[in-house]
Amino acid sequence: MKELIDKIVTDGTVLEENVLKVDSFLTHQVDPTLMSLIGKEFASRYKDKGITKIVTIESSGIAPAVFIGLELGIPVIFARKQKSLTMNKELLTAEVYSFTKQVTSEISISTKFLTEGDHVLVVDDFLANGQAALGLIELCRQAGATIEAINIVIEKSFQNGRSLLEEKGYKVDSLARIESLKDNKVTFVEE
Ligand code: 5GP
Repeated sequence: MKELIDKIVTDGTVLEENVLKVDSFLTHQVDPTLMSLIGKEFASRYKDKGITKIVTIESSGIAPAVFIGLELGIPVIFARKQKSLTMNKELLTAEVYSFTKQVTSEISISTKFLTEGDHVLVVDDFLANGQAALGLIELCRQAGATIEAINIVIEKSFQNGRSLLEEKGYKVDSLARIESLKDNKVTFVEE
């Protein structure tokens, strides 16, 4: 998606050879105009697929997920990383190793929001090694829901997330695919 790629080029910074900082428009401050375009783009790809729920993970998946949900007119569920006192009923849970925080946390969704018969788009801000997506897939599996696709805003194609997910039979759909962050420079996969 051209607008996203342009924004990464102008506002993104390379922290290490494998980490991109995009906190001015996606992971801390959010650019609603860009999120709205992202929502419209993904919604146009999935509008006739019978999707019933968007599933993401807090916190940076929420902004793009809400805009996709708005366009498709369906609810957005975000898996929580810490159980709230109000989440005392039945939960779907999975372990996720965080690429950026380097800790494992338990993520959960209340069983009442995701059920058998749901057709899901899994959404996240980044795809690196696929661990967050796998955790969300596990929650959907426990609910008996069907996953239509994994929608990613920024995919780092030099890491193994896509191949891991595709080997398991999931469709991965990304709006920007980064080939390399070497020498503090972002290069994109030619498509
Ligand atoms: P994975 O689980 O695929 O290894 O990593 C994806 C998760 O780690 C995303 O939810 C995202 O929050 C975080 N992440 C991975 N790579 C990056 C990165 O280069 N920059 C930022 N800001 N977050 C990342």
